Amino acid sequence: MSATTCLFCRIIHRELPATVVYEDDDVLAFRDIAPKAPTHLLVIPKRHLDGLQALDGEGAGVMASLFACLVRLARDTGVAHSGYRVVVNHGANGGQTVPHLHLHLLGGRPLTWPPG
Ligand code: 5GP
Ligand code: ZN
Repeated sequence: MSATTCLFCRIIHRELPATVVYEDDDVLAFRDIAPKAPTHLLVIPKRHLDGLQALDGEGAGVMASLFACLVRLARDTGVAHSGYRVVVNHGANGGQTVPHLHLHLLGGRPLTWPPG
């Protein structure tokens, strides 16, 4: 998908509104529009990547930046104490609906296992 038509790239470029909770040169974090838990944030790289399988040689750095942001947000929102879940859906069977790599941070209620 091209960056100009990608939903999350459009959020990065402020072409679509979102409740942004964190931003730096590499990472954007914002509230999920249809939250599945009291805390449901999405953490994305500003560089467009379709998903996990698009990670290249710089992938480790991208994931480190995303997880560093997520861990800070988990602390700042309080879910680090109560517990939370990190989800990356990949492809059709994985339930991925937006083809721009993103981490889900879910917390604020007990989460069941296994997922559906
Ligand atoms: P996926 O199913 O690809 O793992 O997750 C995509 C997530 O993006 C879903 O949880 C969905 O609610 C969220 N989402 C879809 N469209 C928008 C949007 O326009 N704004 C925001 N903030 N979240 C969105
Ligand atoms: Zn994108």
